[in-house]
Amino acid sequence: MSILKVTRLGHPVLRQVTEEIAITELRSAAMQKLIDDMVETMNEYDGVGLAADQVFTCKQVAVLEVADNPRYPQKPKVPLTVLVNPKITALTDEMEEDWEGCLSIPDLRGRVPRYKSIRVQALDRDGQALDFIAENFHARVIQHEVDHLNGKVYLDRMRDLSTLTFLQEFTRYWLRS
Ligand SMILES: [Zn+2]
Repeated sequence: MSILKVTRLGHPVLRQVTEEIAITELRSAAMQKLIDDMVETMNEYDGVGLAADQVFTCKQVAVLEVADNPRYPQKPKVPLTVLVNPKITALTDEMEEDWEGCLSIPDLRGRVPRYKSIRVQALDRDGQALDFIAENFHARVIQHEVDHLNGKVYLDRMRDLSTLTFLQEFTRYWLRS
């Protein structure tokens, strides 16, 4: 496995809409290696999710996992999940605003509204169908990653940029509130 370079905001690939992955392609050694490398890269940089376009691959695959993560302490755990060709449907109009960061937008945080409850339909890395409901932080992470696959970043979803803050100032001024 290898740790991949992560694209930063401004690279055009982050703004491209990624392509669906055919089942034969998904099962190829190259795609399986990409998924392994994405998991390793996410763990290396303490991310809770990573989309393929963040590692220069314009395909609809994202990985996510929330364990004991120093970038997101005290968040509920989410097992390692690989989402291929994911589709999400909001199950409520209710949105919740909370902090997000992004490995492609280093050192920044901002408050982003997201649906509290979503239905997720996707394939796993073996091509098996996944269909589940995600809520709260879990739903937030998936909405963030699916946005990446559609060429969007969390800044696009902020109601305004008044909460955009560097990580050091986040810790200093916002964490305690
Ligand atoms: Zn991101």
